[in-house]
Amino acid sequence: MSLKRRPGRTWCYAQKPAAFDYPPCRCGNSDLEWSEKQKHVWCAVCRKDFIPAYQGILDGPIPMGLVGMMGIRFDRVNLKTMRLECFDVEEMAYYSPTPQFCATGSTGVEVDAGNVAQMDRGL
Ligand SMILES: [Zn+2]
Repeated sequence: MSLKRRPGRTWCYAQKPAAFDYPPCRCGNSDLEWSEKQKHVWCAVCRKDFIPAYQGILDGPIPMGLVGMMGIRFDRVNLKTMRLECFDVEEMAYYSPTPQFCATGSTGVEVDAGNVAQMDRGL
């Protein structure tokens, strides 16, 4: 598994880059995935990793109260354990949920297995 051999991401957000307002690929694909390389995203259409022009809301100070209302979650997937880690906005800390959902009050974010599976494509 390539993740063990090369330094790279140890986690990625459960939501895709588009949820954080990342720009689309030059080819127009906005359904990007997190790359296993730090700061990179993956375009499945072009089959390449690239560093986006900007990182959406992750570039600036993040209004934590507002992003929750916008449906943005900072829950992440630990790529070593492949387990979901939920972000508690009030505590500003991650915790491990059981079994697969983060408590959000209204909606839960399910781990997108397809999203994460891209991480192990052996680049
Ligand atoms: Zn592309």
